[in-house]
Amino acid sequence: MPTNRRNFLKAAGALTAAAAVLNPAEIFAKTFGTKINKSKKMQLSFIPYTAQLRHVFRISHNARTSTPIVLTRITYDGYTGYGEASMPPYLGESQASVLAYLKRVDLGQFSSPFEMEDIISYLDGITTHNTAAKASVDIALHDLAGKIIGQPWWKIWGFDASKCPNTSYTIGLAEENVVKQKTEEAAPYKVIKVKLGMGEKTDKMMINTIRSVTDKVICVDINQGWKDKHYALDMINWLKERNVNMIEQPMPVDMVDETAWLTENSPLPIIADESCQRLDDILKLKGVFSGINIKLMKCTGLFEARKMVTLAETLHMMLMVGCMTETSCAVSAAAQIAPRVQWADLDGNLLIANDCFSGMKIVNGKVTLTDKPGIGITKTDKNINFEA
Ligand code: MG
Repeated sequence: MPTNRRNFLKAAGALTAAAAVLNPAEIFAKTFGTKINKSKKMQLSFIPYTAQLRHVFRISHNARTSTPIVLTRITYDGYTGYGEASMPPYLGESQASVLAYLKRVDLGQFSSPFEMEDIISYLDGITTHNTAAKASVDIALHDLAGKIIGQPWWKIWGFDASKCPNTSYTIGLAEENVVKQKTEEAAPYKVIKVKLGMGEKTDKMMINTIRSVTDKVICVDINQGWKDKHYALDMINWLKERNVNMIEQPMPVDMVDETAWLTENSPLPIIADESCQRLDDILKLKGVFSGINIKLMKCTGLFEARKMVTLAETLHMMLMVGCMTETSCAVSAAAQIAPRVQWADLDGNLLIANDCFSGMKIVNGKVTLTDKPGIGITKTDKNINFEA
């Protein structure tokens, strides 16, 4: 028998023998050479934080200058994982609701972060909603487990980091001179994302103004702003002629048949955002949209996001990864799935003035992942104190 095959069988035999006496968490830890210290307990801490926006952020139904955030931390056996919940108003969560949820979480009942399947299922069962609150624990848990393993999640999942797309840089609804200025500021980015849906005159002004500055690719997000499918199709044809390459959530969530008609007739892909919250939304969106926009704050975090990638790919649907206005913590977590998506909208950290983490970077316009373990971040603001 060739030596390498003999060695393989020997290793396989040892693993089978180990399986008889070890639980899955211990086998996992053994495989990665990490000792599980059973006397150690996971400890969750959390603090409210306010992300200050660089510009007033305006979409078709609101405007704001800051975003409420809650930062989380899980410590275990000398390791620390960080997480984050970001709560833009339309998500239906607040700092109060997230803090109330986190107070109910008891991670002490689990022996290690590698009991992830059970932990995630427990977190999801605590309440019906609170997707951002759940994501804040899921992200910290992934950061922690990845740090213990010593690898980033994109690598643990077997993704090819060189396949990450360019990120888009978002330009909100604004006056012509502000749009021009923002377009010039977007020079380092290769894709511009524009929020439309305020009416034909304003929408065309936005696109024409950007086109007076640059001819780079534009992605368009309507945020459910179009109510008439024929008008929507006319606008899409107009946008296609101006090098727009995708349309996000053109019509209201409840206009399913109209959206399906639009997707069938549209020369551009139509991507679900508000219509796609979690894994079990995807099946009913097949045939209605061309693809989905995955955001950790909608889907409860990386554990479910990874499953959404697989299901969408199985259904031959296109993928986008997005974010809220949030720090480099949640943005770097979302970036772990970027190698599998056609569009990345990971500029949330660039839109805030007080980022307290450093992590995923945009290099030459492209989402660039590193070998840093977990979600690949470092806490940069020493004033963030979880002990206070
Ligand atoms: Mg959107």
